[in-house]
Amino acid sequence: MEGSSTSGADVSDYTRLIVEEVSYNEQELIKYCLNSDNKIGKKETATITTFIKQIVKRVHDLALKLNLTHGAYVEANKSRDKICDSLEANTLTILDLLSKNETNHQGNKSYAQTLKSKAVKKTLHSDNSVVVYPTDKTTTKNPEVIKQEMKAVFNPVAEGVKITAVRNLGEKGLLIRAAGKEDLNAIMANKTLKSIGLTVSRPMKRLPRLALFGVPSEITEDEIRESLIKLNNMEEREIMDQMKIGFKFGRKGGLTMNLTIEVSPELRNKLLNLKKVYLGWSCCRIEDFVRISRCYRCCGFNHVQKSCKAPTPTCAHCAGSHDTSTCEKKHPPTCTNCKKFHLAHDHAASDLNCPSYINALQGLINRTEYGN
Ligand SMILES: [Zn+2]
Ligand SMILES: [Zn+2]
Ligand SMILES: [Zn+2]
Repeated sequence: MEGSSTSGADVSDYTRLIVEEVSYNEQELIKYCLNSDNKIGKKETATITTFIKQIVKRVHDLALKLNLTHGAYVEANKSRDKICDSLEANTLTILDLLSKNETNHQGNKSYAQTLKSKAVKKTLHSDNSVVVYPTDKTTTKNPEVIKQEMKAVFNPVAEGVKITAVRNLGEKGLLIRAAGKEDLNAIMANKTLKSIGLTVSRPMKRLPRLALFGVPSEITEDEIRESLIKLNNMEEREIMDQMKIGFKFGRKGGLTMNLTIEVSPELRNKLLNLKKVYLGWSCCRIEDFVRISRCYRCCGFNHVQKSCKAPTPTCAHCAGSHDTSTCEKKHPPTCTNCKKFHLAHDHAASDLNCPSYINALQGLINRTEYGN
């Protein structure tokens, strides 16, 4: 934005200079005509003066138009920057929202935020899921084939096993959610599944992620580890073995950035107790990082626009097959995700209270190992 306002000043300086030069040329030409040494008649002088005045007027008009156009261009750039800023601010960083909420309007949390602040602390022994993959990793069986093979040898009615959900896991496996522990154990213990080449196991849980806010941009990974050990009383062993430095997020190119780290459940507890950590010359806020990305192109979860594979875009406002930015908003909002899952969908897909979004967030929390 600084760049565009500087060039705005450049453009008006430039046009002012041109106008001044043309006025100077006009005066010089008229002086030249009026100089009797040059022997130009009164009639010719009048004609030349008329033409030069017309030329000057046209240059003035052009200069004015150029200034107006450039002004509009600068304004458009400013609002483009504003849109970029608001897009960035709207990325579904629950933690960012949560921290803003704490300072701005406490007590007015969205459901997603309330869920996040409650759910992260709970342990997840109620999760009765198993994953089913072909034992032979080189096979190209898709989830539908696995489902058919499983159905051929495993009958939930005969086994007395209650199943609440069966989902495809990418292009390679199945996730089966059982009603209770006994149902889960019955599937796990089934020998026939093993004999037909299917491996049944508990889903691998993901390690918790934490976010560090306001980390100096120039700090190295080694300096972060060293600071955590020496300035924050962490044990060297746990920092070296139980922490993986993740990705940066937030505004790019500033003096500070935000950083994610992946940690063991034990290390998470220790770090969260500190609330802030000293890194080099800085003191950084540390919090749980629970984020679901929602694609700006298709509104789908767990991927971003860059890696979107949807054949057509889906509007976040009306669920139509067009970019959200081109939506004429003639209809009330319709959430494409909730419509797909047969949930109430009279809201925009970007709504933070969207039930599908909350489910995705809860799913992420369920898949994370928080320990006891
Ligand atoms: Zn997408
Ligand atoms: Zn639309
Ligand atoms: Zn929704």
